[in-house]
Amino acid sequence: MADKLRILLIGNGGREHTLAWKLAQSSRVEEIHVVPGNGGTAGVPKCKNVSSVSAEDFAALVQHAKSNSLNFVVPGPEAPLVAGVTDYFKKNLPNVGVFGPSEAAARMEGSKTFSKDFMKKHNIPTARYENFTSYDAARAHLDQIDYSVVIKADGLAAGKGVIIPQTKQEAEKALKDIMLDKEFGAAGNSVVIEEFLEGDEISILSLSDGNTILSLPPAQDHKRIGDGDTGPNTGGMGTYAPAPVATKAILEEIERTALQPTIKGMRDEGMTFVGCLFTGFMLTKNGPRVLEYNVRFGDPESQSCLPLLESDLADLMVAATEGTLSSKSLDIAPLSACTVVVAAGGYPGSYSKGTPMQVEEAHEDAGLYYFHAGTSIKDSKLVTSGGRVIAATATGSTLRDAVDNAYKGVQGIKFEGMQYRKDIAHRALR
Ligand code: AMP
Repeated sequence: MADKLRILLIGNGGREHTLAWKLAQSSRVEEIHVVPGNGGTAGVPKCKNVSSVSAEDFAALVQHAKSNSLNFVVPGPEAPLVAGVTDYFKKNLPNVGVFGPSEAAARMEGSKTFSKDFMKKHNIPTARYENFTSYDAARAHLDQIDYSVVIKADGLAAGKGVIIPQTKQEAEKALKDIMLDKEFGAAGNSVVIEEFLEGDEISILSLSDGNTILSLPPAQDHKRIGDGDTGPNTGGMGTYAPAPVATKAILEEIERTALQPTIKGMRDEGMTFVGCLFTGFMLTKNGPRVLEYNVRFGDPESQSCLPLLESDLADLMVAATEGTLSSKSLDIAPLSACTVVVAAGGYPGSYSKGTPMQVEEAHEDAGLYYFHAGTSIKDSKLVTSGGRVIAATATGSTLRDAVDNAYKGVQGIKFEGMQYRKDIAHRALR
């Protein structure tokens, strides 16, 4: 890999702003083209937003990389990975490094039935389950079991394809909505019906070259829109890291029983994983259980985890693509981080876009950061352009400090209708 990196970063969320911000700190990074980027990436040093190329048009992405001498690709979200962007670049621009898994490896996120079968085959601890392609068989299964279930559409459903029914009637309705009425389109051609697990949830982001795994501090997300974990699910309303519930012993167990067997299993099956593996866990009273795999950085987990990373992220990504991650380590600041997501009024239902907004200067030297998600620049002014609009992240020497500072940071964000949770990290602070 060339010493100087000219990066193509795909995506426009809070995760991509955070990645751009962190990558730009590397002395190896010369320039970052973000396709399409957002109002935050537009202001990151070395970054420029590219709106003339569609992130879904792989041929146009390759052409853009060629004509701008870009030599490294970082796909942010899952959609291009599941659609095979990594393989496409490898075939058409073999000298360009891609920090992201192949289409085959991305099935770990793209198909929940596939990932459940993978876990079973490799003895990775997860909830009991059955996969179904027939609605009648799925319905009949509900009559045969005596435990609470979670119903999951097989394919990508923008984070909405997981239903936790409270009653058998709700479970039957979920099956009908997904499998017969195709609420999530073809993503519902098959479903997983799995056992409902109780416990604390954590997410682990691990960089991997297919052999070595280097994990960032464990994070806890807050999926529901309302305080006290109430209301509908969202893309994630806030995170903190490290989550104290994930003790050293638990993290060691996770590494031994889940992360290592996953990376080895994928290698053995000819789908070596290169990129960031996001593993979601439920810490049950019987031990950690894998809930899901994602094949990219988490959003908003990245906004809490990457400010804690002291190592050069660009160096780590290159090492992952070159198979030399074993020569690296992660230097993590001995701090806590908290991220509070500020969303548009009405989100996760319908909400307006184009609302003018003001954001005060970040104070990165004091550990306060703003990571934009649904923002854009219109007529040189910052406006909202999505549901999750922006996040305030703060670090602190204790979790309490980090949380308090993140909420002070929220005071520096102003737009009409803004909403945010007031209780991020409540499980750790209770
Ligand atoms: P997934 O996309 O599979 O992680 O599911 C989305 C969310 O649904 C998770 O973050 C959990 O909060 C919840 N969930 C998924 N599977 C289970 C399960 N087996 N038991 C309890 N909650 C679950």
